[in-house]
Amino acid sequence: MSERTLIVGGRVIDPVSERDEVCDVALLDGEVAEIGSGLSRAGADSVLEAEGCIVCPGLIDPHVHLREPGGEHKETIRSGSLAAVEGGFTTVCCMPNTTPALDSPAVLALVRERGRSAACRVFAVAAATRGRLGESPCDIALLAQEGAVGFSDDGDVIASAGVMRQVLTMVAPTDRAFMQHCQEPTLTSGASMHAGAVSTRLGLGGWARVAEEVIIERDVRLNRDIGCRYHVQHVSSAGSVEIVRRARGEGLPVTCEASPHHLTLTDEACEGFDTNAKMNPPVREWADVEALRAGVADGTITVLATDHAPHAKHEKDTDFESAAFGIVGLETALGLYVEALVASGAVNWGRLIELMTVEPARLCNLEPLGSLRVGGPADVTVIDPEMTWTVGEDDLKGKSANSPFLGRSLTGRAVATIVGGQVRMRRKRVGMAGSTSA
Ligand SMILES: [Zn+2]
Repeated sequence: MSERTLIVGGRVIDPVSERDEVCDVALLDGEVAEIGSGLSRAGADSVLEAEGCIVCPGLIDPHVHLREPGGEHKETIRSGSLAAVEGGFTTVCCMPNTTPALDSPAVLALVRERGRSAACRVFAVAAATRGRLGESPCDIALLAQEGAVGFSDDGDVIASAGVMRQVLTMVAPTDRAFMQHCQEPTLTSGASMHAGAVSTRLGLGGWARVAEEVIIERDVRLNRDIGCRYHVQHVSSAGSVEIVRRARGEGLPVTCEASPHHLTLTDEACEGFDTNAKMNPPVREWADVEALRAGVADGTITVLATDHAPHAKHEKDTDFESAAFGIVGLETALGLYVEALVASGAVNWGRLIELMTVEPARLCNLEPLGSLRVGGPADVTVIDPEMTWTVGEDDLKGKSANSPFLGRSLTGRAVATIVGGQVRMRRKRVGMAGSTSA
């Protein structure tokens, strides 16, 4: 049975078609049927009143850890997808550091199969080397054919320059991006946080900026004659932003992403040995936060990605050095980006949406996802830019609650998430006539 959904009176922003106007959007049979003013309510099966809200293409997160297979006590594809729609995301791309790794057609098929019952669209980034060991490249061409939307050994860097060159050479003809977790391992052994005054005071091993920067510098040089699409994951240091800015200035096919925590936190979050502030790469200093925000503002950083990394309580409730790296991010990302980038004046709403929709869609070859056009997929996120809320454990809909943002007040929140025309999340807006919770 065909179902018609009408979204009424919101500010519709679609960077691809350069639309930014108050109007209505009608969805039918999984597609955008009409965009315009005063669309008829007759025949609509459901109506979402969106006055005061932003209506945009469904948000896309190109970097999440769904932990399945092998880490189902932390998250599953299904539970991670619930966290995604809670945060306004209609599409996520999961990383290959599972057990076994996403390095074969069989494991990609398993993710695709489990993804069918997910609340959002799920795509897989495949491992670049067998078992993510950094030694022998996977059958890259075959994995691309089997639906891999990118390649990465995320969680680990490809340390060997020789293997890196092979991988870049093999990924280049697939037109997928290679995504690097930039961490020179011999410079970070025993490290559990940013190397600086706080790590010295706490007596913890430090992870210096240069360990990220030398990998980016090396890869940009290696790739110069190969021309693979090269993507820096979760950039954390001011120096890294500078290297990427220079490479892009030369016209090289280099992109990079920033995560909510690197745009908002410093190493002081680790004070008191708070293991929920332990992530990899680590949060650094305010000058790095400012450089990242400036990198977003000037177009050096073109993609926002949460690096949603769930861990069970017992994996964080331990001493700082033993605790797992990573934090959940899907449910809190939007409000943190608004604080770091829109409220700070780095970018406007239109650009923020671009960074969270069509830019990640381009990175992972997902278009026409990432735009809102008649005839295109009915993936829509409705955002109340004024809604203020305080993050509580109940707001985290995935299996894990390892977040340093619990108790933090955020402004700007998704109030409806629609995937392929299906309303997968709808939140009550206080004082709004016609709004219901579902
Ligand atoms: Zn990583």
